[in-house]
Amino acid sequence: MVKEINNGPKISFERKTVQAMIDIYYKQFDDEAHDIEKVDVETYAMTRLSYCRFGEDKPTCKVCPVHCYKKSYKEKMQQIMRYAGPRMMIYHPVMSLEHFFKEFRYNNKRTK
Ligand code: SF4
Repeated sequence: MVKEINNGPKISFERKTVQAMIDIYYKQFDDEAHDIEKVDVETYAMTRLSYCRFGEDKPTCKVCPVHCYKKSYKEKMQQIMRYAGPRMMIYHPVMSLEHFFKEFRYNNKRTK
């Protein structure tokens, strides 16, 4: 049986947010090796989102209790988030705030 691909509004928003962060991170490089790495990371992250077991109820990947990423991609995404996270407030403030509140709501729900 083929697993259904997540395509709801929250996952779509998450795709845009992750894509924006990846774009910000790779903007600092100008070489073919990083172009190739970018496509690889994008493809991996988007596939993870498409098949995320939580679907529309997913937390942000940062606070996910499962974390389905392979170690090397997890480390790369952490590097991307560290760099792009603070810059998101400048380039995409609305997206950034939405992402922050999603994380806050999830953490709050978990501690209740
Ligand atoms: S890390 Fe967690 S929230 Fe992110 S795609 Fe994987 S299972 Fe879903």
